[in-house]
Amino acid sequence: MSVRIYETFHPEETFNLGRSLGERAQAGTVYCLDGDLGAGKTVFTQGFAAGLDIEEPVNSPTFTILQVYDEGRLPLYHFDVYRIGDVEEMDEIGYEEYFYGSGVCLIEWASLIAEILPTEAVHIRIERDPEKGYDYRRLSVSFPEGRR
Ligand code: ADP
Ligand code: MG
Repeated sequence: MSVRIYETFHPEETFNLGRSLGERAQAGTVYCLDGDLGAGKTVFTQGFAAGLDIEEPVNSPTFTILQVYDEGRLPLYHFDVYRIGDVEEMDEIGYEEYFYGSGVCLIEWASLIAEILPTEAVHIRIERDPEKGYDYRRLSVSFPEGRR
């Protein structure tokens, strides 16, 4: 596994980081996003979608768990599992079809469904540091072996 650390000082920088990962995303990859409410997971996702050439507006699918965007370079399956009560709800959605399919999955609050995440996933943690200012974010991106 290789870990890269990025620091951003403006939402646009987080968006741009998401976009550069979206541009390089490969079919079948699962991106797991974690960080508190307001950390910037959705901002990152919006950039990621732009990197896949998705022009539709992307928001947190809080009440639906899954939002599908089909118009880009690859299908994007955007999950937000914040309100999930039980991992079984993922079975009801038929998550395996998405996790192990030919699109790209991006999961906000992924650690809430840790037991079903693929071992090969990319993990992105977004953290604040009050000492570094209100708009500061630290993003740790962990790629499995052989990916970048
Ligand atoms: P989450 O999806 O993690 O709950 P959002 O992406 O919806 O969070 O919201 C992040 C909020 O933080 C936005 O209002 C955004 O403008 C703000 N923000 C301030 N600085 C940054 C930064 N460096 N990166 C990302 N978002 C930032
Ligand atoms: Mg969000």
